[in-house]
Amino acid sequence: MDQDQSRELEWALETLAIRAGHERTGEQEHGEPIFPTSSFVYGSAAEAARKFGGEEPGNVYSRFTNPTVHTFERRLAALEGGERCVATSSGMAAILATALALLEAGDEIVASRSLFGSTVSLFDKYLGKLGIATRYVELSDLDAWEAAVTPATKLLFAETPSNPLSEVVDITALADIAHRHGAWLAIDNCFLTPALQRPIDLGADLVIHSATKYLDGQGRAVGGAVVGPDKLLEEVFGVVRTCGPCLSPFNAWIFTKGLETLGLRMRAHCENAQRLAEWLAAHPAVSRVHYSGLPDHPQHALAKRQQGGFGAVLGFEVKGERQGAWSVIDATRMLSITGNLGDVKSTITHPATTTHGRLSDDQKQAAGISEGLIRVAVGLEALDDIRDDLARGLDALL
Ligand SMILES: *Cc1c(COP(=O)(O)O)cnc(C)c1O
Repeated sequence: MDQDQSRELEWALETLAIRAGHERTGEQEHGEPIFPTSSFVYGSAAEAARKFGGEEPGNVYSRFTNPTVHTFERRLAALEGGERCVATSSGMAAILATALALLEAGDEIVASRSLFGSTVSLFDKYLGKLGIATRYVELSDLDAWEAAVTPATKLLFAETPSNPLSEVVDITALADIAHRHGAWLAIDNCFLTPALQRPIDLGADLVIHSATKYLDGQGRAVGGAVVGPDKLLEEVFGVVRTCGPCLSPFNAWIFTKGLETLGLRMRAHCENAQRLAEWLAAHPAVSRVHYSGLPDHPQHALAKRQQGGFGAVLGFEVKGERQGAWSVIDATRMLSITGNLGDVKSTITHPATTTHGRLSDDQKQAAGISEGLIRVAVGLEALDDIRDDLARGLDALL
């Protein structure tokens, strides 16, 4: 271990984001290098045998390990406060690899109802086919979580805060429920990132990331990661190594550089989102704003205690149902009309007909996805420009 790495334990998050994980090569490079290579060579047949057999550490093949990917993994593990991180080709690959690593036929998952759409499809359609069933509960209702657990439950899975209503669950209380029943708790930490929430410190076993979102922060690449204890991550690594959803060195390098500005970006995202939420709440064409940074949000106190910030994804409801919402979206000239989020560019979408369009009317009602609901993932443009872009359509509704 060189001097830099032994110091990592004492570093603050801002420093870890910039310094952790880079093991310099003999070139003494200042920036993190990219190793775009599929394989690695050995000095002798005996060395090859030792490396293949795992008796000697070292790279063999980039589906298994790659130095650039390793830098990203070490940096994210340090930021999340986890023993180990395994990077994957996407956020969905991170969830799939976790499930394949930890679960088998007959096991059950209990998950929050408001999950990323593809996560629900993965659980219901593909894990269902393998004999792994998922029960869904209201995110913030701890009694419902407890009641849904059975002796077969092996994994509790939640996104907090939720998208797009910013609902929050008490991670420590949820971890208690999981551990009392011999299950693991995995938190999808995509919306807050370790800059604002460290689920492992709060008792979660595993953290899942879509690096595609705020870890990159600039919409350049698709990738994911799982962070947690060595013992579980060795199993996740086995899945990635064998089944192949590994992260490319180039994307890993992008995410590594993205992490360097994570703290600054998240603070700026939160500040823009808070001020936009307050402005929206005062606008006469807006009937309701869903943002945990507003004091009237049902979980404001919990969010304030558990999170280092309220995030930058917010929902608001306008008059005129679908027509009203669509007219506000169509009146924008700068905001990107897209379902994506976690970008320096602000995005806007109508959940009822896009991200949540697959839900039945009853499911939408249960999930709070009304026809008048608009989601904005607040970026880092000047707040005045974001406000002006929304004001055009909102003022026209009056
Ligand atoms: C985007 C997203 C995912 C999936 O990540 P991909 O990188 O698109 O595969 C999972 N969870 C959440 C909360 C997301 O927003």
